[in-house]
Amino acid sequence: MNIVVCVKYVPDATADRKFEDDFTVDRVGVDGLLSELDEYAVEQALQFREKREGEEIEVTALTVGPEKAVDAVRKALQMGADKGVHVVDDAIAGSDYIATSLVLAKAIEKIGADLVICGMASTDASGSVVPAMLAERLNLPQVTLASVIESQGDQVRIKRDNEGSTEVIGATLPIVLSVTDQSGEARYPSFKGIMAAKKKPLETFSLSDLGVDAGEVGLSVAWSQVEDTTERPPRTAGEIVTDEDGSGAGALVDFLASKKFI
Ligand SMILES: Cc1cc2nc3c(=O)[nH]c(=O)nc-3n(C[C@H](O)[C@H](O)[C@H](O)COP(=O)(O)OP(=O)(O)OC[C@H]3O[C@@H](n4cnc5c(N)ncnc54)[C@H](O)[C@@H]3O)c2cc1C
Repeated sequence: MNIVVCVKYVPDATADRKFEDDFTVDRVGVDGLLSELDEYAVEQALQFREKREGEEIEVTALTVGPEKAVDAVRKALQMGADKGVHVVDDAIAGSDYIATSLVLAKAIEKIGADLVICGMASTDASGSVVPAMLAERLNLPQVTLASVIESQGDQVRIKRDNEGSTEVIGATLPIVLSVTDQSGEARYPSFKGIMAAKKKPLETFSLSDLGVDAGEVGLSVAWSQVEDTTERPPRTAGEIVTDEDGSGAGALVDFLASKKFI
């Protein structure tokens, strides 16, 4: 059985992030990392394999992104994935959700997957739409926001967390799944895992390897356009209330009321 985990390389939220002149996010000049929410997807893929010990299950970590995006795949390999695939091509820069899902779907078709696992959202664009687009493109059922995954043979039972309810959904593989941050703490790569990852197979595909025309991806064919961006204003110093004469509580209430919190 093949499990493909989609792992996105995102700019580090603690780094100094900026936009390019064309309003795309600078993903080259800033430190990046495997999207934290995709670590849960890797964890669930590894647990799926571990629970079915003795079966031949291969976990492939897949990313679409610039040169540095290979780091996201490496982290997944260090955590325990068996092999990695990085799709990189200059023409992909500026791709929107539709083009990104096209490239991911073509790569998944080439790898072959019985189960595709995604994160619930990326920590940069936070669209939460790629798993659904992948399911549509691959003509597979999708179950999103899974917190518990149990399986036997080709049958999968998934606990799906909604805001006000929890659903239990049964599905037959192959499917596309997205998992939440409630699905279980993601493991840290061990020293052994880090060393082992260096020897694991890591393939690089270009668009032509996937049979995708460069004219189908990139900023020029994006269905949406970012027209402007505004930098978040720098943080201002907080207000300190000194309570020397017992008036502190009143001052706090006045402050909260002035900000319309109460
Ligand atoms: C006009 C425009 C230009 C853009 N330019 C760029 C750009 O230059 N570079 C860029 O990276 N983004 C760019 N984006 C954003 C890009 O379209 C989205 O980041 C991308 O489609 C994924 O959407 P998301 O991050 O919201 O993922 P979500 O839908 O929130 O992701 C859900 C899950 O899908 C999987 N996934 C998503 N993206 C990837 C990926 N690339 N590789 C592997 N798995 C993935 C992960 O498992 C993730 O947890 C642009 C968007 C627009 C509208």
